[in-house]
Amino acid sequence: MSSPYTIRLFGDPVLRQMAKDVSDIDGKLVKVCDSMLETMYDDAGIGLAAPQVGIQKRFFVYDFGDGPETIINPTITESRGEWLHEEGCLSVPGLHWEIVRPKEIHITGYDLHGNEISLEADELEARLFQHELDHLDGVLLLDHLDEDTRKAALATLRETLLDLDGSRAKAQEQEKRGWFRSGSGGLTLP
Ligand SMILES: [Zn+2]
Repeated sequence: MSSPYTIRLFGDPVLRQMAKDVSDIDGKLVKVCDSMLETMYDDAGIGLAAPQVGIQKRFFVYDFGDGPETIINPTITESRGEWLHEEGCLSVPGLHWEIVRPKEIHITGYDLHGNEISLEADELEARLFQHELDHLDGVLLLDHLDEDTRKAALATLRETLLDLDGSRAKAQEQEKRGWFRSGSGGLTLP
């Protein structure tokens, strides 16, 4: 069984580009989101942004256990506080770091019906939204690290990605410890 999409990994230039606003919310977008969700569930993720499957548009899908959701053209309008928490990424396999981000945010955007969304989120949910929004701006977890940690991470990533050697098996094994996987131990998802 294979997922509808292959998740793009660190080193893929699409992850470093600024995604463009979605101009039409239509049946085609609904289908794309369904396929992204299937890909996300296959990897036991809780969030996936369009650039991670090679689509340079501003939307992401997620599921906190209350069913699948999509936010299109998201904007963080307010952020408050600070929260240090471990974070990983399906596109940066096998690695996770403690990263400080605002603890609470207000996010706006649109759903797949074209209705406006306006949500207050905190802790894990706020973190997921910020993480996915980073993807739309071409920002990766590594950009949040201090220089020494980033250098060490890059060295590890080079090894991991070289070891891939055409096969995603090893990365996927390592990813099981990543933050965006459920049941990875050490982190209880809401
Ligand atoms: Zn990510």
